[in-house]
Amino acid sequence: MKETVDKFQVPEIEEIREDKELLQKQTKRYQKFRKGIRCRFCREKMQVDFKNTLLLSKLCNPVWRMLPRKRNGNCRKHQSLVKKAIKYARFLALIPYEGQQ
Ligand SMILES: [Zn+2]
Repeated sequence: MKETVDKFQVPEIEEIREDKELLQKQTKRYQKFRKGIRCRFCREKMQVDFKNTLLLSKLCNPVWRMLPRKRNGNCRKHQSLVKKAIKYARFLALIPYEGQQ
């Protein structure tokens, strides 16, 4: 009987405080991450290149479908340029249309 009681014990106040501090730290880190420019092409001032297949593979999911803007963090301008680059690279058979990476 005692074991079952121990399972449902209420956590102490100090533990709750520690959890709160951890959560605040995480949110601060997230805000720091969101502060800068999200688009990698704008941030590093590089151009979209259809020959850079390594970069294009990072902007695609494992089935070689392009990730949405919300996911890879590109701005509207660079997302449309990446779309064109991926289409061109597929046409030149640098990257596949579908399949596993
Ligand atoms: Zn951009």
